[in-house]
Amino acid sequence: MHEFSLAQNIIEIVDDTLKQHGAHQAKEIELEIGTLSGVEISALEMALESLKPGTIIENTKVKLIITKAKAICRNCKNEYFPEDLFSPCPKCSGYGPEIISGKELLVKSIVAE
Ligand SMILES: [Zn+2]
Repeated sequence: MHEFSLAQNIIEIVDDTLKQHGAHQAKEIELEIGTLSGVEISALEMALESLKPGTIIENTKVKLIITKAKAICRNCKNEYFPEDLFSPCPKCSGYGPEIISGKELLVKSIVAE
């Protein structure tokens, strides 16, 4: 499952970052996930929960921040928030906008104990 390897990646990033700072436990982590990232939020949450035991984020509160995707129409330069990659421009009905944000999945912040 795609979300499982993502969850593993997230744990590795947190692990590395904490080690770099000489910390052993994260109190809270914030993940930023774009609505066009293709990540299924509930699957990711489930994957994190099942991978947590025995890792550095065992007792960590995981906050998910969902960021709305933003696009610019290549045709009329209108900026809008597409529901998905195939949402046409609401102004001129043009397809295939330039996606500015919304595809990201990143560890936004880590609060160490
Ligand atoms: Zn347009």
